Amino acid sequence: MNEPFLLSNLIDLQEIDNKLFKLIESKSSSENVNKLKDLEIEFKDLTSNISGQINSLEKYFSIKENNEKSLKEIKLKIEDIEIKLSSDNLDPTDTLNFSNQKESLKIQTNKLREEIENIESENFDEIDILEKDKENLEEVKKQLVVVAKLVKSEWDIIDQQIPILENEKSKFISTFPDELKAFYDNLKNKGVEIIAAYKIGNQCGCCGVELTTSEIDKILSTEFQQCTYCDGVLV
Ligand SMILES: [Zn+2]
Repeated sequence: MNEPFLLSNLIDLQEIDNKLFKLIESKSSSENVNKLKDLEIEFKDLTSNISGQINSLEKYFSIKENNEKSLKEIKLKIEDIEIKLSSDNLDPTDTLNFSNQKESLKIQTNKLREEIENIESENFDEIDILEKDKENLEEVKKQLVVVAKLVKSEWDIIDQQIPILENEKSKFISTFPDELKAFYDNLKNKGVEIIAAYKIGNQCGCCGVELTTSEIDKILSTEFQQCTYCDGVLV
């Protein structure tokens, strides 16, 4: 082959490929994508912390729930008794009876409240951590929604750019002889990092190795002008 014009096309093709690679990679590694990943980890951690805390506070929650239920029932009973006590035609025995009932219900109320207060103060630190974690979880959820939207709009833009570049690439590559196409793909598959570059003085533009004049002559005399050190094409 040995046509510098064709070989320099490899540099342009590589540039398009690099742009494509960067675009595709940015889908999984942009600042917002990383933020989203961090938030997802935080969300998972908080959720599992919270469920662990709720388990270890099982006794507290069950006492609190039961007592609050009883308090509501007692409140209704007291209200009922108060209505009865306010009646005009109540005989003294009933009045005394209802007053005693009311008094006893009030004592029960105080006991139930006290029990809640006690178990709350016994578990104060754990409850505090749980409340804070719940607040944090709400905040993380809000942020997740915002960042997920940002990532989606980033991806939409990238998804529009990729086919444009792919189209540009396939148009460009269609002007290549088959042999050059195969050669390029082969080097790419082999993992050659820089496939083609201009010579910089006596340096290989691909790997930067300083070449002797005879090495350069030898390279330039081969079909694809490949550097003997890195396999990249010297243009
Ligand atoms: Zn080289």
